[in-house]
Amino acid sequence: MTNLYALDEAELAAYLAALDERPFRAKQIWQWLYEKRVSSFDAMTNLPRATIAKLKESARLGELEMTARQLSKDGTEKRLYRLPDGQLIESVLMPYDDKRRTACISSQAGCALGCVFCATGQMGFGRHLSAAEIFEQALIFARDLAARGERLSNVVFMGMGEPFHNYEASLEAIDLLMKRLGIGARHITISTVGLVPQIRRFADEGLQVKLAVSLHKTDDSERSALMPVNRVWPIAELMDACRYYVERTQRRITFEWAAIAGENDTVAEARRLGRLLAGLHCHVNVIPLNPTGGYKGGPAPAPDLNRFLTTLRQHGVPATARLRRGIDIDAGCGQLKTAAHDAEAIR
Ligand code: SAH
Ligand code: SF4
Repeated sequence: MTNLYALDEAELAAYLAALDERPFRAKQIWQWLYEKRVSSFDAMTNLPRATIAKLKESARLGELEMTARQLSKDGTEKRLYRLPDGQLIESVLMPYDDKRRTACISSQAGCALGCVFCATGQMGFGRHLSAAEIFEQALIFARDLAARGERLSNVVFMGMGEPFHNYEASLEAIDLLMKRLGIGARHITISTVGLVPQIRRFADEGLQVKLAVSLHKTDDSERSALMPVNRVWPIAELMDACRYYVERTQRRITFEWAAIAGENDTVAEARRLGRLLAGLHCHVNVIPLNPTGGYKGGPAPAPDLNRFLTTLRQHGVPATARLRRGIDIDAGCGQLKTAAHDAEAIR
């Protein structure tokens, strides 16, 4: 079976030619896929029955099989997909009051970076996703939103996996998001644990895509204890790469800060962070830690969080706290994991 979402326009034309279809059908089908965003061949109402029958026999619309779905009280929706080889991945849709609809998508099944507080890190590495598999997660949300007259507006690479560890496929997926779903580069955010060579390479790409770097600590030995990647790319080298990114792109960089009670939510730590980021065109996104089974830390209490933010701002560093979303369904940042028993549990 041919996955139509994995074909570009020329490949789709060639595929239809091989089915003895007239050339203009390629354009019609392309419009059904990416402009009208239908989810079945039967919905392609300007195609002859015979064409639809041929398509059903030899093609499919995507390869992600949804095996579970969960809706949070705040409207956040989490989906579990099985890939053709049995790997499981999750993606999340977050509706906001202001019409924004943000898809949080996975770039890998599991993750090799092993951050101790992260549920995906705790499960280990499965495999890289292809560009088509990354893209399809957003496409499915876009399709479902289109069916109710809404539009997918933003995409963040903050699901399972480290997008810069799967660099080529992630960038190809970004290209598909822009070209096929019309999502502007400024509405796409790629988040990295801090892979220094890829941050530099990304800076050179000339894209308007937003970059977020997961920092979480200002001290090397403490950051290494939470994030093993820090042993390879310590903070000074990471900050050099971040400064290079800002200078090269003239864009603001975002730092992610998972606020962990008693670990990195103190005024002293905020001062150190303020000094570390002084003069850099940046913004700090503070997210109270989402507790996970394999890590004993808890979220920073609200008063500590507020003191942390105030201290950072006093140092001239813009900082905001991000609301925790989908907490009741484990769809929050870093909570995505897909062990088989979880698949059962969320059915
Ligand atoms: N691998 C990339 C992107 C996926 S993780 C990265 O690490 O940046 C997306 C964000 O969720 C990162 O900022 C990560 O540090 C954060 N995160 C992971 N586990 C978390 C948890 N339990 N609570 C809050 N944030 C978490
Ligand atoms: Fe991987 Fe990001 Fe989780 Fe670290 S926080 S284990 S890099 S997904």
